[in-house]
Amino acid sequence: MRPSPSLATLVGRALTLRCPACGTRGIVRRWLRLDATCPACHQPVDRPEPGYYLGALMLNLVAAELLLAAVGLVVIVTSWPTVPWNGLLYGGALLMVVAPVVLYPVTKLVWLAVDLALQPEFGGREGSPPS
Ligand SMILES: [Zn+2]
Repeated sequence: MRPSPSLATLVGRALTLRCPACGTRGIVRRWLRLDATCPACHQPVDRPEPGYYLGALMLNLVAAELLLAAVGLVVIVTSWPTVPWNGLLYGGALLMVVAPVVLYPVTKLVWLAVDLALQPEFGGREGSPPS
């Protein structure tokens, strides 16, 4: 049995839109549609566990909010004292609509990477939760 990759390796693969389990490209065919399984190792992208999808959704929203906070901080710091508050307000609202869509495949694969790190015994072809 091969040792499980480290969390950094798993997340690094996910951030580059590769399968967290094996590192193969091609799991993201279209931006909002991931394959159900990895074409190389057949790692399921979704786990048949209750609440698994909510974790991926939570990670997506947290990543979008962190991006909003970072962009807002950069705009405030670089434009102080004449901060474009209206631009920040409307730009931030637009960013909160666009960012979750843009970040969707990345955060979904990162969530799978974290799950594989926490439950490596349920990785691979089975992808089955503990019964
Ligand atoms: Zn794979």
